[in-house]
Amino acid sequence: MKTLGLLGGMSWQSTALYYQLLNQGVSQKLGGLHSAKILLHSVDFHEIEQLQSAGDWDACADILAKAASGLEQAGADIMMIGTNTMHMVADTVQDAIDIPLLHIADATAEKLKMDGVGRVALLGTAFTMEQAFYKNRLTERYGIDVIIPGSEDRALIHRVIYDELCVGKINNQSREAYLAIIEKCKNQSAEAVILGCTEITLLISQDESTLPVYDTTAIHAGKAVELAVTT
Ligand code: GLU
Repeated sequence: MKTLGLLGGMSWQSTALYYQLLNQGVSQKLGGLHSAKILLHSVDFHEIEQLQSAGDWDACADILAKAASGLEQAGADIMMIGTNTMHMVADTVQDAIDIPLLHIADATAEKLKMDGVGRVALLGTAFTMEQAFYKNRLTERYGIDVIIPGSEDRALIHRVIYDELCVGKINNQSREAYLAIIEKCKNQSAEAVILGCTEITLLISQDESTLPVYDTTAIHAGKAVELAVTT
């Protein structure tokens, strides 16, 4: 089995999910007492968030590239960044290491393609929804149309992620607001919705959503398990 290197702590709420999903996945595939081989570098999210809001992506890239390099030296075979937003600096992280980086948007797009989804809504941080690194990857590499919520809705989604989900607060009013946004995207002919922030799965489940949900945390972890046990 390959060893997974996970850059986590962004936030730790979703890293805890990754840890569970990776171990559950390996256990399901291999049975018995098998569990995932994981090397985790968990950052202080306060420091990262300060750099994000200051727009200092070079400093973010530097921190994650060094962390990835450390995990590679410690024996990781496959690298993962456990957040959609920080894939903003995925190229710098990949350049710092000689092992493959499993990109969260690629894992998600592959699943969307497999399911024949051609037009999808994207919910995530303002960085993920508004900047090119994520939606262009879906469109240019996979031919998937991406619908982004309107500006007020984007602000709400972003605020809930940082003020609530990343600190473990699950609020029913926020859930209703997210579901209403998903409904609006459905009316714009979205066929599915990407939960494009690794904490949104703490708030929204398939049962409540009128669109099929693509949970990036579960998809990313699932793909990593596949690669870890079969390659
Ligand atoms: N975990 C979130 C994501 O998937 C947001 C936190 C971050 O800014 O990294 O985008």
